[in-house]
Amino acid sequence: MPRPLQARINLSAFDRNLHVVRRCAPESKIMAVIKANGYGHGLKRVAQVLIGNVDGIAVLALEDAICLREMGFRKSILLLEGFFTADELPIIADHHLSIVVHNQIQLEILSQAWLPKKIDVFLKMNSGMNRLGFKAEAFHEALSILKSCTVIHNITLMTHFATADDEKGISVQFSSFNSVVQGLYHMRCLANSAAILRYPDSHGDWVRPGIMLYGSSPFADRSAEELGLQPVMTLTSQIIAVQSIKKGECVGYGATFVADRDMRVGIVACGYADGYPRHAPTGTPVLVQGKRTRTLGRVSMDMLNVDVTDIAQAQVGSEVTLWGDGMSVDEVARAAGTISYELLCALASRVPVVEI
Ligand SMILES: *Cc1c(COP(=O)(O)O)cnc(C)c1O
Repeated sequence: MPRPLQARINLSAFDRNLHVVRRCAPESKIMAVIKANGYGHGLKRVAQVLIGNVDGIAVLALEDAICLREMGFRKSILLLEGFFTADELPIIADHHLSIVVHNQIQLEILSQAWLPKKIDVFLKMNSGMNRLGFKAEAFHEALSILKSCTVIHNITLMTHFATADDEKGISVQFSSFNSVVQGLYHMRCLANSAAILRYPDSHGDWVRPGIMLYGSSPFADRSAEELGLQPVMTLTSQIIAVQSIKKGECVGYGATFVADRDMRVGIVACGYADGYPRHAPTGTPVLVQGKRTRTLGRVSMDMLNVDVTDIAQAQVGSEVTLWGDGMSVDEVARAAGTISYELLCALASRVPVVEI
């Protein structure tokens, strides 16, 4: 038998989450975000569900975009960081890819380019996140340069929110964007998952859902379940050894966990080399045979430890759910001081993936 760790990918859950997007933003076209290997779920795997069901797919890497074309996706494919050097442009044009244009260098390259086919652009405004995009005062100038480029076809106006998921909200960025684009007859593309779920006014012509498609909540104070989202990835393994320890004995590297009573400890075949976060402390929630318990001590490279003192039937071979069905990845991420995005996209390539 192979090592029992596996990631199950539930594509019907992915499809149902896509319906939640559609229900939340019925007037908008969907640009599904599948960067980072589909947030760890497999680019081709999630793309299969999207083809025929969405008007656009957003990725980072040119090779991913080409892969989507080769899979037969004929609609918009957006490169979220655009292009980096002029030599990518003929490939982009040839595959009819759309690009985010966010800086002056890209504008200059486009101004000087000649291509047999034209390119669609998403012109990005920096409305306050201060990551990518032209500031409000430089946006009109950038737009007019783009319009004068012979290689540019459609232009969509885009921005990205920094705080759609928390109490700060989108109002400052949204009004800054609106005041700049007022009176411009271009399509608009603003909302990530948090804005899709929380700010219908921001939806515009295109929405850009990422995390919600994978069944995780973008909010700290609302669970995926409350939002009607279902986990797509379930990471499971088994107990491969059980240790009975006495009060005062320790578990794992650094001996950071000291038993405060006699205990039974299950050793699970999953560690940080599989993508489980090493910084998950004692107490991180986990399921053993469907029963909720906690991790103990440090996560090792290939194994971690769970408390099975009160789960009498737990033994070698017992099923363990690290996250997914029955154990929200958001909860595990929170306990580990991170977000679901990081856990999902860090799934290691050595973990076997099974589609269900
Ligand atoms: C990743 C990303 C998204 C999707 O964000 P989620 O929070 O996962 O919905 C949308 N837009 C841009 C520009 C992104 O980089």
